[in-house]
Amino acid sequence: MLLGVHNVFAVAAFGTLLVSCSQSGPSGAARVVLTNVHVVDMDNEREPQLRTVTVADGFIESIVGPGEHSTSRDDIIVDGNGGYLSPGLIDAHTHVRSKANLPLYVVNGVTTVREMNGSPAHLRWKRLVAEGSIVGPNMVVASPITTSDSNIYWRHISEVEEVAPLIDAYLREGYDFVKIYELEPRLLQAVLETAAKSGIGVVGHYPVRGDFKRDPVEFERALASGMASIEHLEELFEMVRLNSRDDSMDDGIELLRRSAPPLTTVVVRKWNQNRIVRLGQDYLDENRLFQITHYLGPTHLAEVRESLRGFEARRGVPADTTDVNGVLDFLKRLHDSGVILSLGTDSHSPTAIAGFAVHEELALYLQAGLSPAEALTLATVNGAGVSGLNGVTGSISIGKRADLILLTENPLENLSALRRPIGVMIGGRWFGPEELERMRQAL
Ligand SMILES: [Zn+2]
Repeated sequence: MLLGVHNVFAVAAFGTLLVSCSQSGPSGAARVVLTNVHVVDMDNEREPQLRTVTVADGFIESIVGPGEHSTSRDDIIVDGNGGYLSPGLIDAHTHVRSKANLPLYVVNGVTTVREMNGSPAHLRWKRLVAEGSIVGPNMVVASPITTSDSNIYWRHISEVEEVAPLIDAYLREGYDFVKIYELEPRLLQAVLETAAKSGIGVVGHYPVRGDFKRDPVEFERALASGMASIEHLEELFEMVRLNSRDDSMDDGIELLRRSAPPLTTVVVRKWNQNRIVRLGQDYLDENRLFQITHYLGPTHLAEVRESLRGFEARRGVPADTTDVNGVLDFLKRLHDSGVILSLGTDSHSPTAIAGFAVHEELALYLQAGLSPAEALTLATVNGAGVSGLNGVTGSISIGKRADLILLTENPLENLSALRRPIGVMIGGRWFGPEELERMRQAL
Protein backbone atom coordinates (compact mmCIF):
# COMPACT_ATOMS: atom_id res chain seq x y z
CA MET A 1 0.00 0.00 0.00
CA LEU A 2 2.83 2.42 0.79
CA LEU A 3 4.95 1.65 -2.21
CA GLY A 4 8.56 2.65 -2.01
CA VAL A 5 8.01 5.19 0.70
CA HIS A 6 10.86 5.92 3.04
CA ASN A 7 9.38 8.37 5.45
CA VAL A 8 6.33 6.47 6.48
CA PHE A 9 4.44 8.31 9.19
CA ALA A 10 1.20 6.74 8.21
CA VAL A 11 -1.30 4.66 8.42
CA ALA A 12 -2.99 1.38 8.84
CA ALA A 13 -6.67 1.95 9.07
CA PHE A 14 -9.12 4.67 9.83
CA GLY A 15 -8.79 5.87 13.35
CA THR A 16 -5.17 4.90 13.57
CA LEU A 17 -3.53 7.43 11.30
CA LEU A 18 -0.22 8.24 12.84
CA VAL A 19 0.48 11.44 11.00
CA SER A 20 0.25 14.32 13.36
CA CYS A 21 -0.45 17.86 12.44
CA SER A 22 1.94 20.65 11.70
CA GLN A 23 4.46 18.59 9.78
CA SER A 24 3.49 20.57 6.77
CA GLY A 25 2.27 24.04 7.39
CA PRO A 26 1.85 27.00 5.12
CA SER A 27 5.62 27.24 4.92
CA GLY A 28 5.49 23.70 3.57
CA ALA A 29 8.65 21.98 4.71
CA ALA A 30 7.48 18.62 3.38
CA ARG A 31 5.07 17.47 0.75
CA VAL A 32 2.02 15.55 1.92
CA VAL A 33 0.91 12.71 -0.31
CA LEU A 34 -2.68 11.57 0.24
CA THR A 35 -2.89 8.13 -1.33
CA ASN A 36 -5.82 5.84 -1.90
CA VAL A 37 -8.58 8.45 -1.72
CA HIS A 38 -11.72 8.88 -3.79
CA VAL A 39 -11.68 12.51 -4.87
CA VAL A 40 -15.04 14.26 -4.60
CA ASP A 41 -14.86 16.39 -7.72
CA MET A 42 -17.11 19.43 -7.34
CA ASP A 43 -15.92 20.97 -10.62
CA ASN A 44 -16.99 18.15 -12.92
CA GLU A 45 -19.66 16.41 -10.83
CA ARG A 46 -18.67 12.89 -11.72
CA GLU A 47 -18.37 9.77 -9.58
CA PRO A 48 -15.48 10.08 -7.11
CA GLN A 49 -12.38 8.42 -8.59
CA LEU A 50 -9.54 6.72 -6.73
CA ARG A 51 -6.59 9.12 -6.77
CA THR A 52 -3.38 10.21 -5.14
CA VAL A 53 -3.32 13.89 -4.22
CA THR A 54 -0.02 15.60 -3.54
CA VAL A 55 0.15 18.80 -1.53
CA ALA A 56 3.18 21.09 -1.54
CA ASP A 57 3.59 24.46 0.15
CA GLY A 58 -0.06 24.42 1.12
CA PHE A 59 -1.38 23.93 -2.41
CA ILE A 60 -2.51 20.96 -4.48
CA GLU A 61 0.41 20.00 -6.69
CA SER A 62 -0.89 16.93 -8.47
CA ILE A 63 -3.85 14.57 -8.70
CA VAL A 64 -3.02 11.25 -10.35
CA GLY A 65 -4.31 7.70 -10.58
CA PRO A 66 -3.23 4.99 -8.15
CA GLY A 67 0.44 4.08 -8.53
CA GLU A 68 1.15 6.98 -10.87
CA HIS A 69 2.78 9.25 -8.34
CA SER A 70 6.42 9.30 -7.39
CA THR A 71 7.52 10.20 -3.91
CA SER A 72 10.69 11.53 -2.41
CA ARG A 73 12.12 10.50 0.91
CA ASP A 74 10.91 13.53 2.82
CA ASP A 75 7.32 13.16 1.75
CA ILE A 76 4.71 12.55 4.40
CA ILE A 77 2.37 9.81 3.28
CA VAL A 78 -1.23 9.62 4.43
CA ASP A 79 -3.05 6.51 3.29
CA GLY A 80 -6.70 7.41 2.87
CA ASN A 81 -7.60 3.71 2.88
CA GLY A 82 -10.19 4.11 0.15
CA GLY A 83 -11.98 6.96 1.92
CA TYR A 84 -13.38 10.09 0.34
CA LEU A 85 -11.56 13.37 0.00
CA SER A 86 -13.93 16.34 -0.15
CA PRO A 87 -13.16 20.01 -0.45
CA GLY A 88 -13.28 21.59 3.00
CA LEU A 89 -16.54 23.29 3.97
CA ILE A 90 -17.01 27.05 3.84
CA ASP A 91 -19.27 28.96 6.23
CA ALA A 92 -19.83 32.12 4.21
CA HIS A 93 -21.72 33.95 6.95
CA THR A 94 -20.48 33.56 10.46
CA HIS A 95 -19.40 35.59 13.48
CA VAL A 96 -16.35 34.18 15.21
CA ARG A 97 -16.83 35.07 18.85
CA SER A 98 -13.40 34.30 20.17
CA LYS A 99 -10.10 32.76 19.22
CA ALA A 100 -11.03 29.81 21.43
CA ASN A 101 -13.96 29.00 19.13
CA LEU A 102 -11.82 28.58 16.02
CA PRO A 103 -11.18 24.84 16.58
CA LEU A 104 -14.96 24.26 16.59
CA TYR A 105 -14.85 24.93 12.86
CA VAL A 106 -11.83 22.71 12.30
CA VAL A 107 -13.23 19.58 14.01
CA ASN A 108 -16.35 20.01 11.87
CA GLY A 109 -14.40 20.12 8.62
CA VAL A 110 -14.96 23.83 8.06
CA THR A 111 -11.74 25.05 6.48
CA THR A 112 -12.76 28.60 5.53
CA VAL A 113 -15.06 31.12 7.18
CA ARG A 114 -16.27 34.54 6.10
CA GLU A 115 -16.54 36.71 9.21
CA MET A 116 -19.40 39.13 8.65
CA ASN A 117 -18.75 41.77 11.30
CA GLY A 118 -15.01 42.09 11.41
CA SER A 119 -12.81 43.76 14.01
CA PRO A 120 -9.07 44.20 14.55
CA ALA A 121 -9.16 40.95 16.55
CA HIS A 122 -10.53 39.02 13.57
CA LEU A 123 -7.80 40.46 11.34
CA ARG A 124 -5.23 39.35 13.92
CA TRP A 125 -6.64 35.80 14.13
CA LYS A 126 -6.71 35.62 10.35
CA ARG A 127 -3.01 36.47 10.26
CA LEU A 128 -2.14 34.00 13.02
CA VAL A 129 -4.01 31.18 11.23
CA ALA A 130 -2.27 32.00 7.95
CA GLU A 131 1.12 31.93 9.71
CA GLY A 132 0.29 28.59 11.30
CA SER A 133 0.63 30.06 14.82
CA ILE A 134 -2.90 29.11 15.87
CA VAL A 135 -5.32 26.41 14.75
CA GLY A 136 -8.38 27.62 12.88
CA PRO A 137 -10.05 27.88 9.50
CA ASN A 138 -8.81 30.29 6.85
CA MET A 139 -10.55 33.58 7.47
CA VAL A 140 -12.08 36.11 5.13
CA VAL A 141 -12.92 39.19 7.18
CA ALA A 142 -15.56 41.72 6.21
CA SER A 143 -15.44 45.18 7.76
CA PRO A 144 -17.38 46.17 10.85
CA ILE A 145 -21.08 46.49 10.02
CA THR A 146 -21.52 49.86 8.36
CA THR A 147 -24.94 51.44 8.51
CA SER A 148 -26.93 54.64 8.71
CA ASP A 149 -29.08 52.98 11.35
CA SER A 150 -27.68 54.22 14.63
CA ASN A 151 -26.39 51.43 16.76
CA ILE A 152 -23.49 52.09 19.05
CA TYR A 153 -21.85 48.75 18.37
CA TRP A 154 -21.66 49.31 14.64
CA ARG A 155 -19.93 51.77 12.34
CA HIS A 156 -22.46 54.50 11.82
CA ILE A 157 -22.33 56.88 8.85
CA SER A 158 -24.68 59.73 8.07
CA GLU A 159 -22.92 61.81 5.39
CA VAL A 160 -21.71 60.93 1.91
CA GLU A 161 -18.38 62.65 2.72
CA GLU A 162 -17.64 60.02 5.35
CA VAL A 163 -17.72 57.16 2.88
CA ALA A 164 -14.42 57.47 1.00
CA PRO A 165 -12.20 57.92 4.08
CA LEU A 166 -13.96 55.01 5.77
CA ILE A 167 -13.44 52.62 2.85
CA ASP A 168 -9.81 53.77 2.60
CA ALA A 169 -9.39 52.89 6.25
CA TYR A 170 -10.99 49.46 5.77
CA LEU A 171 -8.57 48.74 2.93
CA ARG A 172 -5.57 49.91 4.94
CA GLU A 173 -6.58 47.78 7.90
CA GLY A 174 -6.88 44.71 5.67
CA TYR A 175 -10.61 43.97 5.45
CA ASP A 176 -11.68 41.83 2.51
CA PHE A 177 -15.19 43.24 2.08
CA VAL A 178 -17.30 46.17 3.19
CA LYS A 179 -20.17 44.81 5.27
CA ILE A 180 -23.33 46.89 5.21
CA TYR A 181 -26.60 46.83 7.04
CA GLU A 182 -29.39 49.25 6.21
CA LEU A 183 -28.19 52.41 4.46
CA GLU A 184 -30.07 55.41 3.17
CA PRO A 185 -30.15 55.19 -0.65
CA ARG A 186 -27.71 58.11 -1.17
CA LEU A 187 -25.22 56.48 1.25
CA LEU A 188 -25.68 53.06 -0.35
CA GLN A 189 -24.87 54.55 -3.72
CA ALA A 190 -21.78 56.31 -2.36
CA VAL A 191 -20.55 53.09 -0.68
CA LEU A 192 -21.05 51.03 -3.84
CA GLU A 193 -19.36 53.58 -6.11
CA THR A 194 -16.40 54.15 -3.82
CA ALA A 195 -15.94 50.43 -3.15
CA ALA A 196 -16.07 49.62 -6.88
CA LYS A 197 -13.34 52.19 -7.55
CA SER A 198 -11.24 50.72 -4.76
CA GLY A 199 -11.75 47.14 -5.89
CA ILE A 200 -13.41 45.92 -2.69
CA GLY A 201 -16.76 44.09 -2.70
CA VAL A 202 -19.80 45.17 -0.70
CA VAL A 203 -21.74 42.49 1.16
CA GLY A 204 -24.57 42.53 3.64
CA HIS A 205 -28.25 42.52 4.36
CA TYR A 206 -30.77 43.66 1.79
CA PRO A 207 -29.63 47.26 2.03
CA VAL A 208 -32.61 49.58 2.13
CA ARG A 209 -35.23 49.91 4.79
CA GLY A 210 -38.78 51.05 5.15
CA ASP A 211 -41.47 51.49 2.53
CA PHE A 212 -38.81 51.45 -0.11
CA LYS A 213 -38.79 47.68 0.03
CA ARG A 214 -42.49 47.50 -0.64
CA ASP A 215 -42.05 49.06 -4.05
CA PRO A 216 -41.04 46.35 -6.56
CA VAL A 217 -39.12 48.73 -8.83
CA GLU A 218 -37.05 50.10 -5.98
CA PHE A 219 -36.70 46.63 -4.50
CA GLU A 220 -35.19 45.37 -7.73
CA ARG A 221 -32.96 48.44 -8.09
CA ALA A 222 -31.44 47.77 -4.65
CA LEU A 223 -31.00 44.07 -5.45
CA ALA A 224 -29.21 44.85 -8.69
CA SER A 225 -27.11 47.68 -7.25
CA GLY A 226 -23.87 45.73 -7.48
CA MET A 227 -23.42 44.07 -4.09
CA ALA A 228 -21.14 41.03 -4.11
CA SER A 229 -23.64 39.11 -1.99
CA ILE A 230 -26.85 39.67 -0.09
CA GLU A 231 -27.24 37.82 3.18
CA HIS A 232 -30.13 36.25 5.01
CA LEU A 233 -32.37 34.43 2.56
CA GLU A 234 -35.01 34.29 5.28
CA GLU A 235 -35.26 38.08 5.34
CA LEU A 236 -35.65 38.21 1.57
CA PHE A 237 -38.34 35.56 1.85
CA GLU A 238 -40.34 37.80 4.17
CA MET A 239 -39.98 40.75 1.81
CA VAL A 240 -40.97 38.76 -1.24
CA ARG A 241 -43.89 37.17 0.55
CA LEU A 242 -45.19 40.57 1.60
CA ASN A 243 -44.68 42.16 -1.80
CA SER A 244 -45.67 39.48 -4.29
CA ARG A 245 -48.91 39.80 -6.20
CA ASP A 246 -50.22 36.49 -4.85
CA ASP A 247 -49.23 33.64 -2.56
CA SER A 248 -47.44 31.77 -5.35
CA MET A 249 -44.71 34.44 -5.10
CA ASP A 250 -43.99 33.77 -8.79
CA ASP A 251 -43.33 37.43 -9.54
CA GLY A 252 -40.94 37.79 -6.60
CA ILE A 253 -39.03 34.64 -7.54
CA GLU A 254 -38.77 35.88 -11.13
CA LEU A 255 -37.50 39.25 -9.94
CA LEU A 256 -34.78 37.59 -7.86
CA ARG A 257 -33.85 35.29 -10.74
CA ARG A 258 -33.39 38.35 -12.92
CA SER A 259 -31.56 40.67 -10.56
CA ALA A 260 -30.27 39.06 -7.38
CA PRO A 261 -26.54 38.81 -6.71
CA PRO A 262 -25.37 35.62 -4.97
CA LEU A 263 -27.40 35.07 -1.81
CA THR A 264 -26.29 33.54 1.49
CA THR A 265 -28.84 31.31 3.15
CA VAL A 266 -28.64 31.35 6.99
CA VAL A 267 -31.69 29.17 7.72
CA VAL A 268 -30.53 27.07 10.67
CA ARG A 269 -30.67 29.76 13.33
CA LYS A 270 -34.37 30.51 12.84
CA TRP A 271 -35.14 26.86 12.25
CA ASN A 272 -33.77 25.99 15.69
CA GLN A 273 -35.40 28.99 17.35
CA ASN A 274 -38.76 27.87 16.06
CA ARG A 275 -38.16 24.32 17.22
CA ILE A 276 -37.30 25.48 20.72
CA VAL A 277 -40.42 27.58 20.93
CA ARG A 278 -42.55 24.74 19.61
CA LEU A 279 -41.02 21.86 21.53
CA GLY A 280 -39.62 23.50 24.65
CA GLN A 281 -37.84 21.09 26.93
CA ASP A 282 -38.37 18.20 24.49
CA TYR A 283 -36.17 20.04 22.05
CA LEU A 284 -33.52 20.59 24.67
CA ASP A 285 -33.59 16.93 25.67
CA GLU A 286 -33.33 15.60 22.16
CA ASN A 287 -31.06 18.19 20.67
CA ARG A 288 -27.33 18.00 20.42
CA LEU A 289 -27.12 21.55 21.62
CA PHE A 290 -26.67 20.59 25.26
CA GLN A 291 -24.26 17.85 24.39
CA ILE A 292 -21.99 20.31 22.70
CA THR A 293 -22.25 23.24 25.06
CA HIS A 294 -19.13 22.03 26.84
CA TYR A 295 -17.26 23.22 23.75
CA LEU A 296 -18.26 26.79 24.41
CA GLY A 297 -16.52 29.38 26.50
CA PRO A 298 -18.14 30.47 29.79
CA THR A 299 -19.48 33.75 28.43
CA HIS A 300 -21.11 32.19 25.43
CA LEU A 301 -22.43 29.34 27.54
CA ALA A 302 -24.10 31.79 29.93
CA GLU A 303 -25.73 33.49 26.96
CA VAL A 304 -26.94 30.16 25.62
CA ARG A 305 -28.54 29.29 28.96
CA GLU A 306 -30.10 32.72 29.27
CA SER A 307 -31.47 32.61 25.77
CA LEU A 308 -32.89 29.12 26.18
CA ARG A 309 -34.65 30.23 29.33
CA GLY A 310 -36.14 33.05 27.26
CA PHE A 311 -37.32 30.65 24.59
CA GLU A 312 -38.72 28.35 27.20
CA ALA A 313 -40.60 31.22 28.85
CA ARG A 314 -42.15 32.12 25.51
CA ARG A 315 -43.21 28.61 24.73
CA GLY A 316 -46.47 28.63 22.89
CA VAL A 317 -45.97 32.23 21.87
CA PRO A 318 -44.29 32.58 18.50
CA ALA A 319 -40.92 34.15 19.22
CA ASP A 320 -40.29 34.35 15.56
CA THR A 321 -43.04 34.14 13.02
CA THR A 322 -40.75 33.19 10.15
CA ASP A 323 -42.36 30.40 8.19
CA VAL A 324 -39.27 28.18 8.08
CA ASN A 325 -40.86 25.57 5.80
CA GLY A 326 -41.75 28.44 3.50
CA VAL A 327 -38.10 29.53 3.58
CA LEU A 328 -36.99 26.05 2.52
CA ASP A 329 -39.46 26.03 -0.37
CA PHE A 330 -38.24 29.49 -1.36
CA LEU A 331 -34.63 28.28 -1.21
CA LYS A 332 -35.38 25.34 -3.49
CA ARG A 333 -37.23 27.49 -6.02
CA LEU A 334 -34.44 30.08 -6.13
CA HIS A 335 -31.86 27.33 -6.51
CA ASP A 336 -33.78 25.74 -9.37
CA SER A 337 -34.16 29.10 -11.07
CA GLY A 338 -30.39 29.55 -11.13
CA VAL A 339 -29.84 32.06 -8.33
CA ILE A 340 -26.43 31.39 -6.79
CA LEU A 341 -26.76 30.40 -3.13
CA SER A 342 -24.04 29.84 -0.59
CA LEU A 343 -24.10 28.38 2.90
CA GLY A 344 -24.14 30.60 5.95
CA THR A 345 -25.12 29.97 9.56
CA ASP A 346 -24.93 33.30 11.42
CA SER A 347 -23.15 31.31 14.11
CA HIS A 348 -22.75 33.34 17.30
CA SER A 349 -26.36 32.86 18.19
CA PRO A 350 -27.35 30.24 20.80
CA THR A 351 -29.17 28.23 18.15
CA ALA A 352 -26.29 28.15 15.68
CA ILE A 353 -23.13 26.78 17.27
CA ALA A 354 -19.92 27.44 15.33
CA GLY A 355 -19.02 24.55 13.04
CA PHE A 356 -21.85 22.25 14.11
CA ALA A 357 -24.44 24.58 12.56
CA VAL A 358 -22.91 24.04 9.12
CA HIS A 359 -24.05 20.42 9.19
CA GLU A 360 -27.51 21.38 10.41
CA GLU A 361 -27.78 23.92 7.60
CA LEU A 362 -26.69 21.29 5.05
CA ALA A 363 -29.33 18.87 6.35
CA LEU A 364 -31.97 21.58 5.82
CA TYR A 365 -30.97 21.82 2.15
CA LEU A 366 -31.76 18.13 1.75
CA GLN A 367 -35.07 18.74 3.46
CA ALA A 368 -35.68 21.54 0.94
CA GLY A 369 -35.19 19.00 -1.86
CA LEU A 370 -31.63 19.63 -2.98
CA SER A 371 -29.45 16.62 -3.77
CA PRO A 372 -26.37 15.99 -1.62
CA ALA A 373 -24.15 17.21 -4.48
CA GLU A 374 -26.18 20.40 -4.82
CA ALA A 375 -26.07 20.98 -1.06
CA LEU A 376 -22.31 20.42 -0.97
CA THR A 377 -21.87 22.89 -3.84
CA LEU A 378 -23.40 25.63 -1.67
CA ALA A 379 -20.87 24.84 1.06
CA THR A 380 -17.81 24.61 -1.21
CA VAL A 381 -17.71 26.07 -4.72
CA ASN A 382 -20.34 28.73 -4.11
CA GLY A 383 -18.93 29.62 -0.69
CA ALA A 384 -15.56 30.23 -2.33
CA GLY A 385 -17.25 32.41 -4.95
CA VAL A 386 -18.94 34.76 -2.50
CA SER A 387 -15.79 34.91 -0.42
CA GLY A 388 -13.77 36.17 -3.39
CA LEU A 389 -11.83 32.89 -3.46
CA ASN A 390 -12.99 31.38 -6.73
CA GLY A 391 -9.59 30.30 -7.99
CA VAL A 392 -8.23 29.68 -4.50
CA THR A 393 -10.37 27.07 -2.75
CA GLY A 394 -13.75 25.31 -2.87
CA SER A 395 -12.78 22.33 -5.02
CA ILE A 396 -10.00 19.81 -5.37
CA SER A 397 -7.98 20.86 -8.37
CA ILE A 398 -4.34 21.52 -9.14
CA GLY A 399 -3.14 24.90 -7.93
CA LYS A 400 -5.88 25.38 -5.39
CA ARG A 401 -5.19 25.74 -1.69
CA ALA A 402 -5.19 22.38 0.07
CA ASP A 403 -8.39 22.80 2.10
CA LEU A 404 -9.57 19.22 2.34
CA ILE A 405 -11.51 16.79 4.51
CA LEU A 406 -11.10 13.04 4.60
CA LEU A 407 -14.26 10.98 5.17
CA THR A 408 -15.04 7.30 5.50
CA GLU A 409 -18.13 7.52 3.28
CA ASN A 410 -19.12 9.22 0.06
CA PRO A 411 -20.80 12.51 1.01
CA LEU A 412 -22.61 12.57 -2.33
CA GLU A 413 -24.51 9.48 -1.16
CA ASN A 414 -24.65 10.31 2.52
CA LEU A 415 -24.21 13.97 3.28
CA SER A 416 -24.03 13.38 7.01
CA ALA A 417 -20.65 11.68 6.46
CA LEU A 418 -19.36 15.26 6.50
CA ARG A 419 -20.12 15.46 10.22
CA ARG A 420 -17.37 13.02 11.07
CA PRO A 421 -14.18 13.94 9.23
CA ILE A 422 -11.28 11.65 10.08
CA GLY A 423 -8.79 14.11 8.70
CA VAL A 424 -8.84 17.82 7.95
CA MET A 425 -6.29 19.78 5.97
CA ILE A 426 -6.23 23.55 6.10
CA GLY A 427 -3.87 25.31 3.75
CA GLY A 428 -1.73 22.18 3.65
CA ARG A 429 -1.67 21.70 7.42
CA TRP A 430 -2.90 18.21 8.25
CA PHE A 431 -4.95 17.20 11.26
CA GLY A 432 -5.41 13.43 11.54
CA PRO A 433 -7.99 11.60 13.65
CA GLU A 434 -5.93 11.63 16.82
CA GLU A 435 -5.22 15.32 16.46
CA LEU A 436 -8.89 16.03 15.82
CA GLU A 437 -9.84 13.99 18.88
CA ARG A 438 -7.31 15.84 21.01
CA MET A 439 -8.79 19.10 19.76
CA ARG A 440 -12.31 17.96 20.65
CA GLN A 441 -11.18 17.00 24.13
CA ALA A 442 -9.40 20.30 24.62
CA LEU A 443 -12.35 22.43 23.59
ZN1 LIG B 1 -24.74 37.85 10.61
